Amino acid sequence: MRHEVQWQNCPREDAGEHAWTVVGTPPRGRLSVVCISHNLTGAMVHFWNNRTIGCLGEQCDPCSKGRAKFWEGYLAALRDGTLDRLIVRITEKIGGQINQFLKDRKTIRGARMQFDRPSRSPNGRIRLIIDDGLADVPEKITEPPMRPLLLHIWRFTNLATVEQDPQKRFDVQEVLVPVSTNGHARKPK
Ligand SMILES: [Zn+2]
Repeated sequence: MRHEVQWQNCPREDAGEHAWTVVGTPPRGRLSVVCISHNLTGAMVHFWNNRTIGCLGEQCDPCSKGRAKFWEGYLAALRDGTLDRLIVRITEKIGGQINQFLKDRKTIRGARMQFDRPSRSPNGRIRLIIDDGLADVPEKITEPPMRPLLLHIWRFTNLATVEQDPQKRFDVQEVLVPVSTNGHARKPK
């Protein structure tokens, strides 16, 4: 029997479909996206061991140690220009603004959003500008299963296996540094 490499001219089906990068609004420059999600996914969270994790209510470690909790929202989007698949973190205030848009338009899918921080400080207030029209998002670009994906990000692996389809492994990467450090939005190549 001969040993041969099975060369292929394309990756296996669905390769890359589950690769998502979690981003927030950079202190400088701006984050421009087209929304894939139809609505928001949010939860009460804590900042814990230098990252955000969901609050588990009565069995919650950070709660039992008296740590503050706050609402954080997430939406799936494509980065304008590069089409990178992103999970965008939003604050409760921005969530309220998006909710208003949702009430008017019934969906945020296709909404073009620009996030920035006018004060240019890492914790400065976030400004969101949403274009009036909705862009066409190809049907095959679908929102990832947000809840299992967030459980994965929070490393709640026990809970994740309950909700997560075991066939679908996530390839999620969290960006904790600003997208752009030169004061300008990064230009798509
Ligand atoms: Zn908690």
